Amino acid sequence: NLPKIAWIGLGIMGSPMAENLIKAGYSVTGFTLEQDKLDRLAKAGGTAAASIAEAVRDADVVLTMVPASPQVEAIAYGPDGILENAKSGALLIDMSSITPQTSIDLAKSAAEKGIRVLDAPVSGGEAGAIEAVLSIMVGGDQADFDEAKPLFDALGKTIVLCGPHGSGQTVKAANQLIVAVNIQACAEAVVFLEKSGVDLAAALDVLNGGLAGSTVLTRKKDNFKNRDFKPGFRIDLHHKDMGIVTDAARTVGAALPVGSVVANLVASLRAQGDGGLDHSALLRGVERLSGQ
Ligand code: NAD
Repeated sequence: NLPKIAWIGLGIMGSPMAENLIKAGYSVTGFTLEQDKLDRLAKAGGTAAASIAEAVRDADVVLTMVPASPQVEAIAYGPDGILENAKSGALLIDMSSITPQTSIDLAKSAAEKGIRVLDAPVSGGEAGAIEAVLSIMVGGDQADFDEAKPLFDALGKTIVLCGPHGSGQTVKAANQLIVAVNIQACAEAVVFLEKSGVDLAAALDVLNGGLAGSTVLTRKKDNFKNRDFKPGFRIDLHHKDMGIVTDAARTVGAALPVGSVVANLVASLRAQGDGGLDHSALLRGVERLSGQ
């Protein structure tokens, strides 16, 4: 007797995640803005809905995966939104990466309608979504986490309740800080190695076996080598995340001396028209600064 699922937001991440739930036996009704993504859901065995209201009406659990806080607010609030149309007693799991405060406010508003909320942003990228090995960082109540755990198990591998509402988002903000700084360091090493005339493939292989090794280097090695910046994870989204972590760190009085520089480098790439590229395109910024 599996819960009935509604899925809102079937993009790079949402589509493969929803498909993993279908593979695990769940009945999934979805809504998203692009018709081709709705067709893809139907082809995978899900049901395409014509609106958010239609998608969530009979759902026991509503999962959302949209770009940022304004989109979460747009799909949650208002007469056509989730809170107005989902059943009282439903569980809303927002897996988008948004500001912790938006998650806290959403949980409060939803409670007035008898709807429970978890913030459950993820890390692991498109590959992690497809392979169902995401890290899922959760904020909310233990009982709701326990109820959602079988769903999370169908989507990810490392699944942790981090604390109350908003905590998942705070941990995700830290994740994005680490990833951006890591990509920037790798990008600087790539330009340095190439300008020095060292074979890049050999260098990256041996680096990845030592303390310099990382998931970023493993996953983004080919993007660096081939200058393949097809997303993946768009610079626009990482710019949003650097804004989230910068604001949250300022609020609690944590210094980000290197993170704030990398946030500026991400912003600069975006200003130069590279917002739609994968975040491994931080390499482009280093090349420009190096006169390449
Ligand atoms: P995406 O742009 O590919 O997909 C977003 C989806 O949201 C689109 O299909 C769009 O139709 C839908 N959407 C937006 N507004 C909507 C609305 N009002 N009603 C219904 N649907 C709406 O983005 P993505 O890469 O899948 O990222 C989604 C979230 O996951 C973001 O918060 C991102 O930061 C986070 N994330 C992405 C990755 C990654 O590698 N791409 C990894 C981890 C986390």
